[in-house]
Amino acid sequence: MSANTNLTRRELLKGILVIPASAALTNYSFAGVTKANFTTCALGHNDHGKTTLTAALVNVAANKNLVSYENVNAAKVNNINGIQFKASSVHYETAKRIYTHLDCPSHFDHIKNLIAGEKKIDGALLVVSLSDGTMPQTREHILLARKVGITKFIVFLNKKDLIAGNEFIQMEDEFIQMIEEEVQELLSEYDYSKDDVRIISGSALTALQEGATAASDIGTRSVQSLLNAMDEHFPDPIKNVDKLSKAKTLRTFSALVYILAKDEGGREAPFFKGYRPNFALPTLETELSGEVMLPAVVEMVMPGDNLQIKVELDTPMAVHSGQRFIMKEGTKTIGAGIITSLESV
Ligand code: GDP
Ligand code: MG
Repeated sequence: MSANTNLTRRELLKGILVIPASAALTNYSFAGVTKANFTTCALGHNDHGKTTLTAALVNVAANKNLVSYENVNAAKVNNINGIQFKASSVHYETAKRIYTHLDCPSHFDHIKNLIAGEKKIDGALLVVSLSDGTMPQTREHILLARKVGITKFIVFLNKKDLIAGNEFIQMEDEFIQMIEEEVQELLSEYDYSKDDVRIISGSALTALQEGATAASDIGTRSVQSLLNAMDEHFPDPIKNVDKLSKAKTLRTFSALVYILAKDEGGREAPFFKGYRPNFALPTLETELSGEVMLPAVVEMVMPGDNLQIKVELDTPMAVHSGQRFIMKEGTKTIGAGIITSLESV
């Protein structure tokens, strides 16, 4: 079957809408096209429109350059080093790049994808509903993004259709500007400067519902603006970033870890100060023993928690920032982590 079947927008839309909540991160190809690959993800509070925007992006991008349904991957739970989470992976093409875009069904899937996911996120989309503004998971995703090394954000202020013409919101522009400032301020708390952020407003649902001929400013054209902003604002990913970030041989480092919940095959009981699991780095054949040092304010860690820790290995090892590892007790995986700093803060 040809990889570049001429699908109508409607057929394509149907295809996109049946993407199950989880999709395999398998290979894909766009016939005859060699363009830079870029991995992005849709972050943001539950129900703010991440999945709707994901579908809208694929369709709006496909208006210019059709891709076939085969390019959208089928569903599967990701199992990366024993850490399971659900993620959909879709692809779309712009003038500049081929994007791999990840979207997770739940807040916890997002956390696990950021900490343990196989793909490095080159730049993230942050979906904020204009009817709610920033919410707790918005903050948590920004915090995690900073820790795992995401340096650029494009914010999509969604559900503009609910604001437009709303009799209670007299000054639409001022209202949007207020939410923009709120998001910008939240991002700046995690050291994202104005230069690191672009903000677009629109309606993902409108874009998804209207056909190419009915393209409106708050619908299709806002998603097109988002695609343009992604091409312009996200810098090209640096290849072989692992080699570029300097490895150091040391015993202590800081890390962001996710501790598996009991029903994910993790521990049944919490752990405390002095906890000594083994650390398995994908680059090493052997596992290393060491101690988890908890922040002063944390007395115990429950299965299902994610937190910043310091690790003190028993023997020095060559490690680098951004390196991922898993935590084990014997053969049982109890958590996953990413090294956030080689300074033992
Ligand atoms: P997610 O949890 O962030 O993935 O959010 P979803 O994409 O599942 O959307 C949550 C709800 O908001 C669904 O009912 C969507 O139809 C709705 N929604 C998404 N985008 C828009 C929008 O632009 N306008 C309106 N009115 N509703 C939207
Ligand atoms: Mg969703």
